[in-house]
Formats: sequence, structure tokens, C-alpha cells
Amino acid sequence: MQKTKLTNILNDINNILVPRVCFGCNAHLIGGEKHLCTVCRNFVPLTEYSFNEENRVDRIFYGRINVKKTSSFLFFTENGIVQQLIHQLKYKNQEQIGVFLGDWYGQLLQEDPFLDNIDVIVPVPLHRKKLKKRGYNQVAEFAKRLAHYLNAEYVDNILLKTSNTKTQTQKNRIGRWQRNKALYVLSDSKFLKNKNVLLVDDVITSGATMEICAKALNETEGITIYITSMAVVPQFQ
Ligand SMILES: [Zn+2]
Repeated sequence: MQKTKLTNILNDINNILVPRVCFGCNAHLIGGEKHLCTVCRNFVPLTEYSFNEENRVDRIFYGRINVKKTSSFLFFTENGIVQQLIHQLKYKNQEQIGVFLGDWYGQLLQEDPFLDNIDVIVPVPLHRKKLKKRGYNQVAEFAKRLAHYLNAEYVDNILLKTSNTKTQTQKNRIGRWQRNKALYVLSDSKFLKNKNVLLVDDVITSGATMEICAKALNETEGITIYITSMAVVPQFQ
């Protein structure tokens, strides 16, 4: 028996035992559908932001940090498909959603000529205790897939989270930053020297986490920082 045929049969048996359902609407997935049914997939709100034109993610960071360009893949809305996907990814052990989203976004980025110079991709890190508890960093697979498509190196041992304190979300940005400035550190201040670095997170809300991570990365001489994420909470300003 051919190996692929056997794999297909095993997959079919697996689907009967553990039916594959759409993360968006719980419908049974058919044929080549993965994670989302065709209907939900068509409703996934892509930002369609590029690394060329100014977008709303850029405006979140204006005047706060020294980054070259920012973007985000999807819009995160309350009770929407993207929230479902990220919830499953973070809290339900569905790590493969990161691969799914990373492949999708990676292919789009490959066609974006304004992001062909990235040397290194750095995920926003979890504290080691949190990592142990969850078993994985929910950004890792997504970031690894982006590294694959952008021909960049995935590096997760330079930017480290040193304290498990939650990111403060007070409105006062200065106060927030002062309380959190020691949360993220570099294990090596030279490794990223003169490199173009793409910093990646799951969801950008206020931008506070990216801000302190980028400030830590900026300790490196000659570094150029780009930012992106799986999703961004739309800012209506
Ligand atoms: Zn669906």
C-alpha cells in the first residue's frame, strides 16, 4: 500500500474519531479545508496593510518608539473569527493555527517588495514559567513560518522576558513604561547589530508590549526594527 494512501485512510479514521470542525462556526470540515471552512475563510478580515503605505498600526506607535515600519495581518474584533482562532491557539493547545496563519500571511508578505530585507525574526517572548505552563509560545510557529517565507532567521533566545508581571494597560503611557521597562532584556547586545529585525506578536491592542520590546531591541547598535502581528484591534480615532 502506498504511504500517501495509508496516510489518507488514517486521516479519515482520525476525522471520524475526532471530527475536524471549523474554528469559526463549528461546521465539519470537508476535503482540503483546514481549520476554517470555506465560508469562514472568506470572512476573515485581512487588514490588507502593506509595508509600503502608512496604516493605522503605524499611527499606534507614532512618537513612541523608533521603528522603521509596522503592519498587521488581520483585524481582531470582539467575538469574531480572528478572536476564535487566537483563543484556540493560546488556550486550547491548537498550536497548528500559528502554522496556518503564518503560511497564509507569509505568502502575502513574500509578494510585498517592501519587506524583502529582513535578516532576523524575533517573537515577543513569554516568561519561562509561562512557557513551561503553556508548553509553547503561541507566536513561535507563526513567526517561524514568516521566517521561512522571508528567508530570514528565526531567533528566540536574544529577546527575553525577565519578569512575569502582566503588561499594564493604564492610559498613562509614561507611567506604564516606567513600571515595565525592565521586563524585557537582551541576552546578547551584539547579535542583532546592524540587522533588520522583524518583531512579531499575536495581537496589538495598545501597543504597550511591542513598545517595551522594541525599546529593549533598540539597545543594539545599528538595528532597524519592523513590527507585525497576527492581528490588530482596530483603532477608531
Ligand atoms: Zn466555518
